[in-house]
Amino acid sequence: MNPGNAIDERRARRLNQREDGRGPVICWMSRDQRVRHNWALLFACRKASQLKQPLEVVFTLAPAFLGAPMRHYDFMFRGLREVETGLRALGVPFTVLFGEPGETLPEFAAKRNAGALVADFSPLKLVRGWKQAAAPRLSCAFYEVDAHNIVPCWLASPKQEYAARTIRPKLNALRGEFLTGFPEPELRHQPDILPPPVEWDEMESRLKIDRSIRAVPGLTPGEAAAAARLRGFVENRLHRYAGELNDPNSGAVSGLSPYLHFGQLSAQHAALEAARSGASEANREAFIEELFIRRELSENYCWYNDRYDSFDGIPAWAKKTLMEHAGDRRDALYTPEQFEQAQTHDPLWNAAQTQLLETGVIHGYLRMYWAKKILEWSATPAAAFDIALMLNDRYALDGRDPNGYTGVAWSIGGVHDRPWAERPVYGTIRYMNSNGCARKFDVPRYIASMTGSSQATLF
Ligand SMILES: Cc1cc2nc3c(=O)[nH]c(=O)nc-3n(C[C@H](O)[C@H](O)[C@H](O)COP(=O)(O)OP(=O)(O)OC[C@H]3O[C@@H](n4cnc5c(N)ncnc54)[C@H](O)[C@@H]3O)c2cc1C
Repeated sequence: MNPGNAIDERRARRLNQREDGRGPVICWMSRDQRVRHNWALLFACRKASQLKQPLEVVFTLAPAFLGAPMRHYDFMFRGLREVETGLRALGVPFTVLFGEPGETLPEFAAKRNAGALVADFSPLKLVRGWKQAAAPRLSCAFYEVDAHNIVPCWLASPKQEYAARTIRPKLNALRGEFLTGFPEPELRHQPDILPPPVEWDEMESRLKIDRSIRAVPGLTPGEAAAAARLRGFVENRLHRYAGELNDPNSGAVSGLSPYLHFGQLSAQHAALEAARSGASEANREAFIEELFIRRELSENYCWYNDRYDSFDGIPAWAKKTLMEHAGDRRDALYTPEQFEQAQTHDPLWNAAQTQLLETGVIHGYLRMYWAKKILEWSATPAAAFDIALMLNDRYALDGRDPNGYTGVAWSIGGVHDRPWAERPVYGTIRYMNSNGCARKFDVPRYIASMTGSSQATLF
């Protein structure tokens, strides 16, 4: 059991067998880009205090990251500027390294004569590859701390789970132990002089990225904006979440996913704030089901299935039924460019794609419809998988996230779902159509909101 708000040792794992040394403790902030409510930073703080050494934070900037365009880098950089300011206030040096993290990190650790390196956790292959490359080159201890999930991903389950119903009891069994508050950081050995501020504009100019997909106007990134959005949601919208979750017109959803994706907000802190709210238990639990169960199920999928980003990763029953129907006649067939430019015959689909292009967001319910229609109107299910992922990752502010890989795999590949009645193209993959949408929400109103002059308000 975890007494109070102490750091539970089970949140951390060793990534090499080196001993802690004498020298600064370096926290490699990668996925969890925040100063508050951050178990990796807190673990590094505690390690620094135990070793009587200063704490430093480093961020590694790879020249490109899974095709992320300017929209995503803008959101991230503005958040990181705030991190730099927050760390400076605590007397913690913050450095940005440019290049391949598997090389730049060990070089930096050696130069600083680091006593230990503490990384946050990601189930994604690219980041795992960086850690595997860095681990043998480090001459100090290397730890990984899951600061993204409430229950550490490796502890929640030892295997790929079938569905929400199989992971839910496992997560709920550990919820009481891990859903705790956060201690305050204690820093006693910080240097008097901090390095000069990061040259963000210079960093940005070195990136080899697509600059045509620009920042979303009117959306403020960063920890403070995330906290304000969480407050607004808990105070004003959580009380109608369960009933209106599937209505894209109602604005009942939290709109937190970009902040959660970039780690500008802790899911654990959001869950605690929701638990403390005056909303009914039904509304609180509906939110926890998404934020905790579904989100951590996605982490489980990517952690245990290294083909999470491909049609090959889907279950055998789904592959078989989709391949049996691969030759079925399609009522419509579109190229990736036609999808991208919202040029299908379906005004609802085009409106959802327009929302994605303009605001970097699609409502969760429409995301399912959006992906399933890509399956219905693509030449092959494998092509549909790639198109949906490409569009999601290119335009969605929360893209390149385990939730995105799993969402596409659920919609197109039956992951975490079961077989339904057989029909053309889909086989036994669950079908969705616009009549179903019309039963859930006012479809013409949604379309009008995306095509009218007041286009594309965010959440
Ligand atoms: C095809 C498809 C693609 C998706 N792509 C992404 C993506 O790239 N990034 C992403 O974060 N989510 C993705 N999702 C999951 C979900 O649609 C979004 O998390 C949600 O729309 C975000 O809006 P919100 O924060 O207002 O959600 P809320 O309803 O307020 O939920 C709160 C949080 O719970 C989590 N959550 C909600 N729904 C799900 C879900 N179905 N699965 C896992 N976690 C969930 C998210 O972290 C979300 O921010 C995708 C779903 C589908 C079907």
